[in-house]
Amino acid sequence: MKQTFQHLWALQQLDSELRTLSDKLTQIPGRVSGLKAAAAAIKTELDQAKVAIIEHKKQYKLSEVELKATEEKVTGYSVQLYSAKTNEQYKAFLKEIETQKKLKNGIEDRMIVLMEETEALDRKVRENEKKSAELDAETVRKVQMLEDEQKELEAAIAIRREQRETTAAAVPADLLKRYERVRASKGGIAVATVRKERCSGCMSPIPAQRILEVGRQDHLYLCEACGRILIVAQE
Ligand SMILES: [Zn+2]
Repeated sequence: MKQTFQHLWALQQLDSELRTLSDKLTQIPGRVSGLKAAAAAIKTELDQAKVAIIEHKKQYKLSEVELKATEEKVTGYSVQLYSAKTNEQYKAFLKEIETQKKLKNGIEDRMIVLMEETEALDRKVRENEKKSAELDAETVRKVQMLEDEQKELEAAIAIRREQRETTAAAVPADLLKRYERVRASKGGIAVATVRKERCSGCMSPIPAQRILEVGRQDHLYLCEACGRILIVAQE
């Protein structure tokens, strides 16, 4: 019986380790895609800034054309001004010149804004290109580390599965069934030890008499509160 308890304890250790290892393994794909998504996000931002620069330059060229048109109009009206026959005509030409000059100022202001924005975008592209290259290298390195970790975890899991099979085979079938049943319903922990007069699984106090009985290791006792298999604390 004592040996059976030792096997149960070993089985519990292996199952707990398997659970921890499997949890870590499950997280790896998400961690890899998280890293890749972060690297892709900065690239998208970079591409968007590049598109914005092209658009700004296009707008600037269009503004240049508009500016030239207003300048030509100002020149045209200025010539016509001298050929005005009436005071009304003269005033009308003057008004047109004013309007075109205002338009011209507006276009020039817009061109300054476009130029400043283009410069800011250029700076952003340069910074992000550097950042993106660094992040790419870092991502490759981190993904490689995670892939190595994945292989190590898979190997560790394979070893423990083998050990588990051997250990489980050493536990009497009915007890193994009970173990599996309790483990499934109690968050993966079927075997508890008596620690400071309490069940290590649920922390309920264990009566002194029961502690003595468990200590004899000749009979199977369950925690009355949580149903876990109670064994003597193992080294
Ligand atoms: Zn308990």
